[in-house]
Amino acid sequence: MHHAVIIGGGFGGMNAARVLGSVPARVTLIDRRNFHLFQPLLYQVASGGLSPGDITAPLRHVLRREKNVSVLLAEVTSIDTVRRTVELDDGSELGYDTLIIAAGARNFYFGNDHWQRAAPGLKSIEDATEVRARILGAFENAERARDAAMRKEWLRFVVVGAGPTGVELAGAIAEISRDTMRGDFRNIKPEESEILLLEGSPRLLPAFPPDLSEKAERSLIRLGVRSRTGVRVTNIDSAGVDLTGPNGPERIVTRTVLWAAGVTMSPLGAMIAKQTGAETDRAGRVRVQSDLSIANHPEILVVGDLALFEQDGKPLPGLCPVAMQQGWHVRPVIEARLASKPAPAFRYHDKGTMATIGRNMAVADLGFVRFGGLLAWLAWLFIHLLYIVGFENRVLIALKWGFQYLTFNRGARLITGEPRKQ
Ligand SMILES: Cc1cc2nc3c(=O)[nH]c(=O)nc-3n(C[C@H](O)[C@H](O)[C@H](O)COP(=O)(O)OP(=O)(O)OC[C@H]3O[C@@H](n4cnc5c(N)ncnc54)[C@H](O)[C@@H]3O)c2cc1C
Repeated sequence: MHHAVIIGGGFGGMNAARVLGSVPARVTLIDRRNFHLFQPLLYQVASGGLSPGDITAPLRHVLRREKNVSVLLAEVTSIDTVRRTVELDDGSELGYDTLIIAAGARNFYFGNDHWQRAAPGLKSIEDATEVRARILGAFENAERARDAAMRKEWLRFVVVGAGPTGVELAGAIAEISRDTMRGDFRNIKPEESEILLLEGSPRLLPAFPPDLSEKAERSLIRLGVRSRTGVRVTNIDSAGVDLTGPNGPERIVTRTVLWAAGVTMSPLGAMIAKQTGAETDRAGRVRVQSDLSIANHPEILVVGDLALFEQDGKPLPGLCPVAMQQGWHVRPVIEARLASKPAPAFRYHDKGTMATIGRNMAVADLGFVRFGGLLAWLAWLFIHLLYIVGFENRVLIALKWGFQYLTFNRGARLITGEPRKQ
């Protein structure tokens, strides 16, 4: 029987496995995690609004009805495109007839990996709990600070990167300090925190139209976030950030820097490109053909963030709907292969993009219409509830959001791991 191996149980891989449940083939989905992660809500875990379990779903449970699909908890360490095998972290090998690579992206520090210690990114559950510990720990350290200068350093938060993740994170820190924590401390006023959002491009949310960037900036200002655009970070350490901007070099002294500035692709992309001669772009994405396969390798498909797919002369962005739709497209491609027919071409149906800033504030670009404010925020809530995996998660998140809306509280304010010292 035809054996399809899927690497990655994210938006691309999990959706591919779901649709392959009705294809006469054996399917193996391999992920180094036993769960699917809903990355768009990671910032809510990082800001204590949701718990890790709310935004994850066990892959075995999600795929329990697809009887031809097996789930393997393992890391793929290498791929041999000649022998058509993948090697797993325990040294074992698995043969494939079709390989679907959906291994996604990871944090990227522009060649400065040592910044990661001082400025965690937001890509995994571990990242989110680390960011949460840093944010909440900063308030605790400010409460115990010996003098006003130190208190200020702990109450200054810098978020690097003003794409949707950076904007969401900065907005969430502002809400925690202005609303959630108000009155919780005795020596500090959390609402006096300073939140800075740094961006290299000339405006916030560079992927959105300029009018929505302006709307987002106005909303952030109302929340108390100060943004600095056109600045380049040159160093990050445990005591602050160095940057250059229109006014020359500058240092911002702070104990909390959070990274939302860049991602790079899974190393499996470079590995596959080297073996097949496929082209990769600067971010490490692997160029795929119209049917999502690699040139001259109809048996290897790349989907999701890792795929460089051009439509109407532009590469598709790294977004959940792109990964999901590409995952679904795997089914007609494999069916065509089984019937020895030409594989159909993929086409992305763009329903728009959104970013939330805070309570009652979001921006939405649906292509034919652009809007911001309460309506965009309600649309954002609805879409996220619709796409979160698992009925139980959907209900729990809806209840928690309703409760938070009424009380301003965030119930998952846990500092886990080793707390930071003064
Ligand atoms: C903080 C954040 C916020 C975001 N917000 C939005 C948003 O609001 N809207 C939106 O549309 N998009 C958003 N995105 C982008 C979106 O999450 C991605 O586009 C989407 O997850 C891509 O899906 P994927 O399947 O390609 O990769 P992923 O979902 O990242 O899945 C990759 C999977 O592969 C597994 N894996 C990787 N390497 C290996 C290996 N060697 N062996 C085994 N398993 C492996 C990983 O464990 C993971 O489960 C956000 C991303 C982040 C990080």
